Amino acid sequence: MSDSKQPFLPFALPDIGEDEIAEVVDTLKSGWITTGPKAKRFEQAFAEFLGDPQIECIAVNSATAGLHLALEAIGLGPGDEVITTTHTFTATAEVVRYLGADVKLVDIDPTTLNIDIAAIEAAITPRTKAIMPVHYAGLAVDMIAVLDIARRHGLRVIDDAAHALPTTLEKELIGTLGTDATVFSFYANKTMTTGEGGMLVTRNPELAKRARIMRLHGMSRDAFDRFTAKVPSWYYEIVAPGFKYNLTDIAAALGLHQLKRLPAFQQRREQIANRFNEAFSDLPLILPPQAPEGDTHAWHLYVVRLADDAPITRDVFIEGMFAAGIGCSVHYVPLHLHPYWRDRYGLTAEQFPQSQKAFERTVSLPLYTAMSDADVERVIAAVRGLLA
Ligand SMILES: *Cc1c(COP(=O)(O)O)cnc(C)c1O
Repeated sequence: MSDSKQPFLPFALPDIGEDEIAEVVDTLKSGWITTGPKAKRFEQAFAEFLGDPQIECIAVNSATAGLHLALEAIGLGPGDEVITTTHTFTATAEVVRYLGADVKLVDIDPTTLNIDIAAIEAAITPRTKAIMPVHYAGLAVDMIAVLDIARRHGLRVIDDAAHALPTTLEKELIGTLGTDATVFSFYANKTMTTGEGGMLVTRNPELAKRARIMRLHGMSRDAFDRFTAKVPSWYYEIVAPGFKYNLTDIAAALGLHQLKRLPAFQQRREQIANRFNEAFSDLPLILPPQAPEGDTHAWHLYVVRLADDAPITRDVFIEGMFAAGIGCSVHYVPLHLHPYWRDRYGLTAEQFPQSQKAFERTVSLPLYTAMSDADVERVIAAVRGLLA
């Protein structure tokens, strides 16, 4: 089963083409390498991709930065609470703490592994200010239900769409559903990448204005505008103690071409997911949930769960894959198990039975566009060797 002569197949790899490389070189030779014309073009192209002229796109140097800016712009602060899922990466929750507010972690739905809608409603207190859903693995959260809860309780909604590009709900792209803000990630292993980067999108002009100012030091006018305006101006005003969250043109150069390739990337990811589903259907595995008919799953992650009758544990499974030269991962060690979150809020595994059970059994298999068909078959053979 394990063939040590084959090179190691990593869990994730970026897919960078010649167009991306040429665009980066062009940027390097252009004389403008930080935030400038390409970041602006990338924002415009992203808005076109979302297909909604009312949406403002704000390029940032990470999704974490974008989430922080969105929460800052809604005025989150000490005494406020934000409801999110325990089954996520710490970035979703840490940004709440940056602003001195508190996180209310809730359990997940055992089928979708997305935030449990009923648990959101049960966690609302007079201090609740916002809900932060995460479209886990690239499958949309039921945002119609989330937005309905938010409307009834007067709450803001900022969705962490780090996995959800492109994902649809009832044929509408995540990012266009009318949340206060949606934030995408272009981290190296995401469905498209700029190395590091993110995009905050919103239809709220006030929120957009605040986020743009706070993205660059709280400056009322950004550097590129100042140096390239028809009437050159050295003058600017600082209106708040802002952050340094702008996306460089070097990164935006990558993003311009990755975005063009995104539909093809999604198709390839879906093709690999379908091949896995077919090849694993007789194994003691719970396969990932599908998007409803007609909707798009971004397939950022392909997450399987070992069934009750699986012959080996999750940890032994991952060791077996590694011995076969294949990298796997686990998404996620839920937040309630990390010392910081556990101790700050006195959390126990019993409070999150679905997330806990999922955590103990989940494995993320390699799924990325740079995989060849032979790589896909190699993963299948290794999984079948361990479980069939
Ligand atoms: C990757 C990721 C983030 C953070 O994205 P960065 O661009 O690395 O800041 C946030 N939330 C989730 C769920 C992620 O997977």
